[in-house]
Amino acid sequence: MASKHIGICRLCKQERELKNSHIVPKLFFNLIKKNSPTGRFRTTDNPNTPYQDGKKLPFLCEDCEERFSKYETFFSNQIYQNFSDGYGVEKFESNDDEIRYFALSIAWRTLKYLMEKGIGNLSNEEYKQLDIVLEKWRNALYQEDFKTIRAIKQYMIPTAFLHYFSGRPTRIISNVCGDFKVYGKENEFRAAYTTVQVPYLIFVSMAWGEESLLHHYEIGEKIIPNDIELPETLVWQLDLFHKQKFEEANQAMSDKQRQKITQMVCKNLGISLPDHKHK
Ligand SMILES: [Zn+2]
Repeated sequence: MASKHIGICRLCKQERELKNSHIVPKLFFNLIKKNSPTGRFRTTDNPNTPYQDGKKLPFLCEDCEERFSKYETFFSNQIYQNFSDGYGVEKFESNDDEIRYFALSIAWRTLKYLMEKGIGNLSNEEYKQLDIVLEKWRNALYQEDFKTIRAIKQYMIPTAFLHYFSGRPTRIISNVCGDFKVYGKENEFRAAYTTVQVPYLIFVSMAWGEESLLHHYEIGEKIIPNDIELPETLVWQLDLFHKQKFEEANQAMSDKQRQKITQMVCKNLGISLPDHKHK
């Protein structure tokens, strides 16, 4: 098992032994396991959702892993512990450079991973711009350059009360998925962002543009879980996560299992059970 993987670390760009790194931090997968009545992580094999059971890749060297884990620990202890123990309904302050860093580290890993796999439908100009953004993010994370990180538009959207999930409440806690999309006409540079959904939260980091509907959830604000109108672009992205392959995975789950999870989520969040007539 212990075969070493030597390669170029994505963060420090040096040739090092690479660790098997999580694209999305393990703490989120652990929470799903904890919340699942079967104690197991359920996956959808969706090309848009690369994170299967906390998929790990040789991505970072040990030093860079440690650099990231510092901020992950801060986020976990200062924010996420309380927030997730309270079923995602607790408000919290987000005005910390550690939180900004943590959010950007997820966005960067996601975008880097997807760029390496190949993102289709982009113009040369857009590719060029994305390379510049990726390098800016990498450098800011590597140098722990908070001045640059503060200037990047990032949002954290609590999902517990979002109308979007009222018909599919298990999706508030039962998945981790991430993607990156460019929105608007070719070379318009209206908006482009990573979307990473984890239990109780969606992280959005803008490569360019901004989403004014999300301004209450910009990192730096006091984050108050509520039902808000979501930007069309985000709804479209969420539909990609939740309306296609997920439905297939959902079919594969037994009725009893599904009902058990739905009941638990609804009870915890104090919401009424969704209508099952359309199954
Ligand atoms: Zn490194």
